[in-house]
Amino acid sequence: MPQKAIVIGSGISGLSIARMLQTQYDVKIIERTPTIGGLIKCERINGNLFHRVGGHVFNSKNPAVVKWFWDHFDKETEFLEAIRNAKILFNDKLIGYPIENFLHQLPPDLVKKIVKDLLNIIKEGYKAPETYSDFKAFLLGNFGETLYELYFGPYNTKIWNTDISKVPLEWLEGKLPMPKIDDVIISNIVKQEESEMVHSRFYYPVRDGSQFIINRLAQGLDITPSYNVSSIKSDDGRIIVNGELDGDLLVYCGDIRLLSSIIDTSDKKLNDALAEVTGLLSNGTSNVLCETDDNDISWLYLPEDKFKAHRIIYTGNFSPTNNEGTNRKTCVVEFSGKHNEADMVKELELLPGNLKPLAFNYEPNSYIIQQKQTREKIERVKQLLATRNIYLLGRFAEWEYYNMDKCIESAMQLHSILI
Ligand SMILES: Cc1cc2nc3c(=O)[nH]c(=O)nc-3n(C[C@H](O)[C@H](O)[C@H](O)COP(=O)(O)OP(=O)(O)OC[C@H]3O[C@@H](n4cnc5c(N)ncnc54)[C@H](O)[C@@H]3O)c2cc1C
Repeated sequence: MPQKAIVIGSGISGLSIARMLQTQYDVKIIERTPTIGGLIKCERINGNLFHRVGGHVFNSKNPAVVKWFWDHFDKETEFLEAIRNAKILFNDKLIGYPIENFLHQLPPDLVKKIVKDLLNIIKEGYKAPETYSDFKAFLLGNFGETLYELYFGPYNTKIWNTDISKVPLEWLEGKLPMPKIDDVIISNIVKQEESEMVHSRFYYPVRDGSQFIINRLAQGLDITPSYNVSSIKSDDGRIIVNGELDGDLLVYCGDIRLLSSIIDTSDKKLNDALAEVTGLLSNGTSNVLCETDDNDISWLYLPEDKFKAHRIIYTGNFSPTNNEGTNRKTCVVEFSGKHNEADMVKELELLPGNLKPLAFNYEPNSYIIQQKQTREKIERVKQLLATRNIYLLGRFAEWEYYNMDKCIESAMQLHSILI
């Protein structure tokens, strides 16, 4: 008899680990909501595809993740290459992304100040990233005050909806722009378009966006939707869920903050460790599916305070099948936090593209915010749970700023220790 594994959550993390475990285990996936997919689920609104939380494209630098992914899909017939052509809207003008490579598109008086800041940074010498105390200090130290005030400060404050001087730097390791000023100078002279750069290629399903990825990965798996896990007990090496399901091991892909009320134990060490993570902070996003005028942009960043929205994702440019309900294009406008529909509709009038709202969604947890010592606290919980054959996986269980590829990578690491 194969051993039983219970996976909580049918997002990309839960489906990935379930697929990896299914050759050794009898795997059951439990999903709280009626539909599978977590953050990456999409729905059709009168024929137009709505990425309910942003817009999801796939890319990975990890060859093992890339291989695993393409073992499940036919790259040539089922996916399109999405070209990253991101822009920043500043003073009603489109500026290239990343902004430091497109200084030549800014007004000359601003460029003078920015260049002065950058020369000062060179004069004082580069500081290693780990010498900065926090995210704000890092941005100021690497880009100078003018670029910080213009773009990095307002954009990051908007998207994280938090005081970025409280955000520790380790959290953003590998995800941060680490520009060298000589590269900045060269880019501004050579004027290379972002869409011509190697990192600008992403993959996107021909049909149904990230819902296609979910549906394929879910094929053949045993998934129970509309089932909220509210209790997990481990007893004599068996794990009991909601008093009725039992397994030999459990992978939890839900929100780690809720575990203190879900894990039923008298173990003081574990209860203390779980209590330590209940107060972690996260951000929600409000998203509006819109019709828009045609353009060739993929992402438009909106750093200015005059806009409440922080980004427009032109999902209609990723695949023509996303626009089947309109003869225009579609896009998703993203706002940090909860906004009421009437306010968002008013805001749409300020944005470019003659936007017409088609559907709204609010996702209370989309961005995790790490603070000092978050990683140590999570690690402690992970270690204590692992002794009971309970494992944490994914963006909200591990409290990591994971993209889909990182969720798959983490599933691979977990799988390697479970077999
Ligand atoms: C705006 C935005 C844009 C993004 N764009 C990209 C992108 O372009 N490319 C990319 O690769 N990544 C992108 N990401 C990141 C990506 O969305 C996440 O990495 C990924 O979806 C996280 O998947 P997950 O399975 O870990 O978590 P989730 O998707 O949150 O899945 C967790 C699942 O567990 C279920 N669950 C939770 N608790 C319980 C319970 N008690 N009982 C039963 N079920 C439960 C939930 O309902 C949910 O379905 C983006 C994220 C955001 C917010």
